[in-house]
Amino acid sequence: KLSQRLETVANYIPKGSRLADIGSDHAYLPCHVVKKGLVSFAIAGEVVEGPFQSAKRQVEIEGLNDQITVRKGNGLEVISSGEVDCITIAGMGGALITSILEEGKEKLSSTKRLVLQPNISAVTIRNWLLNNGWVLIAEEILEEDEKIYEIIVAEQGIATSKPREDLQKELLFGPFLLKEKSDIFKKKWLTELNNWQRILDQLSRAADTEETINKKNELIKKIEMAEEVLSH
Ligand code: SAM
Repeated sequence: KLSQRLETVANYIPKGSRLADIGSDHAYLPCHVVKKGLVSFAIAGEVVEGPFQSAKRQVEIEGLNDQITVRKGNGLEVISSGEVDCITIAGMGGALITSILEEGKEKLSSTKRLVLQPNISAVTIRNWLLNNGWVLIAEEILEEDEKIYEIIVAEQGIATSKPREDLQKELLFGPFLLKEKSDIFKKKWLTELNNWQRILDQLSRAADTEETINKKNELIKKIEMAEEVLSH
């Protein structure tokens, strides 16, 4: 059975998509969606030998060799332009997901949808999407095994411009998640808020250098935003 996290990612893959799952590890996600009949063709990409072998083994065991091809390579290097219309990247940090998208930019022209699940730093991904012609169409937040996960769904397009303050908040918290303000969302940002507060307290005891001052200002900004978001 698929984790709730990957099940939620799968829910955002449009039926009939040609899929690439990058950083697929055991290829559980492509196997699941192909078995369900949601997808008829998928690429499972892996850069590391061990997980690459696990993916190949899993596809073999499930008898899905005709529909899933497992390829070894870095990021979007494993797909050629026009080959897929949906890409999933799950279970990595936001910075790594962003660098995979940035390095493989030219492969994305035929891609209609990205479904991304960063373990941390979703803000980095939202920033990249905004600056590279993608608009968010949905977001999810969920808790599983005492970890909180965010899922970001984007399609090609130009976002409507917004006042700077609103934009900063939406990039950090996620426009859809911010509107919904679920209990899990509040739990996540309350934890973050407490962490930032603790770091700020520590920094306040350190000597002022340009670096610590900048860090403090950045934290104060984020703390203010989180306090505001959590206050109503
Ligand atoms: N996507 C699966 C999931 O969400 O359960 C597996 C997540 S696993 C924690 C991250 C996987 O991404 C690892 O197997 C790792 O080898 C792979 N990975 C990391 N960087 C990669 C890259 N640049 N290109 C392809 N795969 C990568």
